Amino acid sequence: GRGVSWPAVAALPKMPPFDYTPPPYEGPTAADILKKRAEFLSPSIFYFYRKPLNIVDGKMQYLFDEHGRRYLDAFAGIATVCCGHCHPEVIEAIIEQTKCLQHSTVVYLNHTIADFAEALASKLPGDLKVVFFTNSGTEANELAMMIARLYTGCHDIISLRNAYHGNAAGTMGATAQFNWKFNVIQSGVHHALNPDPYRGVFGSDGEKYARDVQEIIDFGTSGQVAGFISEAIQGVGGIVELAPGYLPAVYKSIKKAGGLFIADEVQSGFARPGSHFWGFEAHGVVPDIVTMAKGIGNGIPLGAVVTTPEIAQVLTRRNYFNTFGGNPVCTAAGLAVLRVLEKERLQDNAFVVGSYLKDRLKALQEKHEITASPVFAVIGDVRGRGLMLGVELVADRQLKTPAKAEALHVMDQMKEMGVLVGKGGFYGNVFRITPPLCFTKEDSDFFVDVMDISLSKL
Ligand code: PLP
Repeated sequence: GRGVSWPAVAALPKMPPFDYTPPPYEGPTAADILKKRAEFLSPSIFYFYRKPLNIVDGKMQYLFDEHGRRYLDAFAGIATVCCGHCHPEVIEAIIEQTKCLQHSTVVYLNHTIADFAEALASKLPGDLKVVFFTNSGTEANELAMMIARLYTGCHDIISLRNAYHGNAAGTMGATAQFNWKFNVIQSGVHHALNPDPYRGVFGSDGEKYARDVQEIIDFGTSGQVAGFISEAIQGVGGIVELAPGYLPAVYKSIKKAGGLFIADEVQSGFARPGSHFWGFEAHGVVPDIVTMAKGIGNGIPLGAVVTTPEIAQVLTRRNYFNTFGGNPVCTAAGLAVLRVLEKERLQDNAFVVGSYLKDRLKALQEKHEITASPVFAVIGDVRGRGLMLGVELVADRQLKTPAKAEALHVMDQMKEMGVLVGKGGFYGNVFRITPPLCFTKEDSDFFVDVMDISLSKL
């Protein structure tokens, strides 16, 4: 800390009680793993925290390190563990399915796969009911873009500048903030102005941003496009909720240009927004194609593309397949996830707890009002929906100067006090709060109290 003394240990907030003690861990230590990493793991991998954590156990919204220390997990493996770590019902479903059939491939019938497809379709509006399974969000988006191109006979796709859609050639091209790093050819992809209410040039005026999409169509294409892909709440981009009015206006432009709308719900879907099951629903639009992954398997690799019977026709007899996509073990997990979401009313919980947490974070924003000493960074913005919330740290409220180093420092402090949070955004200064959906009000209080102390120690 810069001249600020640490609070007495007795004053530190207490983590809510939790009735589980992990078995003693006797495996390799963090140091052992780091040594192996230097030799055997891709250098593209980076770890959170100056001293990376060796996580060996997880139960519901908590993770445990090699020393048995408990952490409140407000990141959930990138918004992925939606029912909670090692949820007993999901484990049971995986074990039972693994015992009888792990894999058979798509050339045979299996009821688990068909049952999960039917269950997924029941969660979607309109005519969205034909499912194609993948192993990841990337694969789902690659397929969605390919379907849009096949269906329309056009190549041009429009995506948002601050989006993240995946890490294969097509999706990387649609991910403007990353593609230059990997020398990806952005074949036929146009990046539109980001409708970001906090940093965008038109503030919260969604219709103004939408004009940029119309201009891209008018000036950058033949007038016909394959489609438009976007998240409803950008995740990797720093929990940016698209400005109101944007998606309905863009839909009109895209439809007029003969294109399809692809909703990337990999992060923002599956009950996480609380007010709705899918992020796009908050914008009053119905997409032509919806892609999903992450939460749908609670951590088991599983992704899906859902579209209408008419659009799905383009795949007829094209023999497009995916060896592992929607294998029985993953789809059995997916079915269990849907059951748990219903039984434990996790969407309602995401709404109630998420609203409470957001209010408390907004109060925290007010509390750390002054940019002068002893606080060197303040909360510039609190945003998001349900249990997909973002807190943007800035050095100056007017200039919105990103406080990246300070964000790293706060993250480290929070970890020391037992709270794990994600980080992201183009400038790396946004805390991403995407916990398992069983997160409680008490967890929220603990989270905010810990963030409060960590901010005070900047
Ligand atoms: N789309 C969104 C919105 C994502 O957040 C991600 C991953 O973070 C992806 C797609 C890619 O998913 P995956 O990492 O499973 O390939």
